[in-house]
Amino acid sequence: MHRSLCNIYHSLPAIEQGVSTCVLIVSLQMPDASTSVRRRIRAVGRTFRELKMIARGVVSRDHPIQVHIIPMRRCNLSCAYCNEYDDVSQPVPLEEMYRRIDKLAALGTTLITISGGETLLHPQLDDIIRRIRSHGILAGLITNGYLLTPQRIRQLNAAGLDHLQISIDNVQPDDISKKSLKVLDKKLQWLKEHAEFHVNINSVIGAGVKNQWDVVTIGKRAVELGFTSTVGIIHDGTGQLKPLSEGAQQVFREMKKLGKHSYARFNQFQNNIALGRPNNWRCRAGSRYLYICEDGLVHYCSQQRGYPAIPLSEYTVGDIRREYHTEKSCAPNCTISCVHQTSLVDFWRDPQSLPSHQVFRPATTQSPELVQIESRSQESVMAD
Ligand code: SF4
Ligand code: SF4
Repeated sequence: MHRSLCNIYHSLPAIEQGVSTCVLIVSLQMPDASTSVRRRIRAVGRTFRELKMIARGVVSRDHPIQVHIIPMRRCNLSCAYCNEYDDVSQPVPLEEMYRRIDKLAALGTTLITISGGETLLHPQLDDIIRRIRSHGILAGLITNGYLLTPQRIRQLNAAGLDHLQISIDNVQPDDISKKSLKVLDKKLQWLKEHAEFHVNINSVIGAGVKNQWDVVTIGKRAVELGFTSTVGIIHDGTGQLKPLSEGAQQVFREMKKLGKHSYARFNQFQNNIALGRPNNWRCRAGSRYLYICEDGLVHYCSQQRGYPAIPLSEYTVGDIRREYHTEKSCAPNCTISCVHQTSLVDFWRDPQSLPSHQVFRPATTQSPELVQIESRSQESVMAD
């Protein structure tokens, strides 16, 4: 998946000006004044709710902070590195999605990110977003952006979407990925013009696209449009570390320069991943972070599907407490930054005393997959 819209703690300062000069020359349509005002008002409200979420996370350990939920496994693209889509599955019925969201609300969840597959293929996506927001939960969406139109963006505004992430892999489409700036730049301009929610552009290092420096072009374009930008790094089929080549590390360093003021706050985890070094942290997957697949089962994360694989309808505070205290043997070499960021809130407390389940099998295929490892932002952002 255009992975890992995950950065919930990133209230980061603006990237410095003057980093534009993208290879694509476009005429920028500015948002009209009323859209701009509504966007600012919503940003203030969203920031307030995010601060509340973090405060609640610190006070209580018994609820999920962030959940990724899959209403649609099917995708209209087929990126070569992806192990999170198929071409056949049907949308999860709306009533079932309502039941799952209501259950997550009852567990006290503070942020739900809708992921896939391609989320915009779900015919009742806006109703799903509305249901999330009706519980006062922050609503995020990850999409490949292909189906975005001005009207669709306005519908997402009306549904109450808080955050949206698009992942762009290259400047020109190639055999690895069709999520290119060439195809998606028009969508980004529409988002600039119409979106009242926060937009993040994720780009990836190590995906195998023809020109790895495309990542920097994409990052600069995101900044130019006023969006936040994150960079992902390739991992193997179990979410584990794949050290970057020297060339890819140069790209990584260049991306850090784009967001150097904010980067220092979060850099050690990302730096270690880029250098192929293990991290020392406590993964709270299954507790503070949940991944709910299309079958309604709770998994640790997208790359550790199968654990604990308990139906969400049967998931209890007891499960949350058990997994909170369960060590994850895959943690040192994990690259799933959304879970890492979610787990940060408890880093300072409660060493994990229950032993890991040990066995870590690959998710659906052996293909490597992407995760987000860094965020830089002009306002609070979330996950993916
Ligand atoms: S990474 Fe590509 S194939 Fe996978 S879900 Fe996203 S758009 Fe679809
Ligand atoms: S450490 Fe946690 S997030 Fe990372 S792969 Fe293992 S279970 Fe998933």
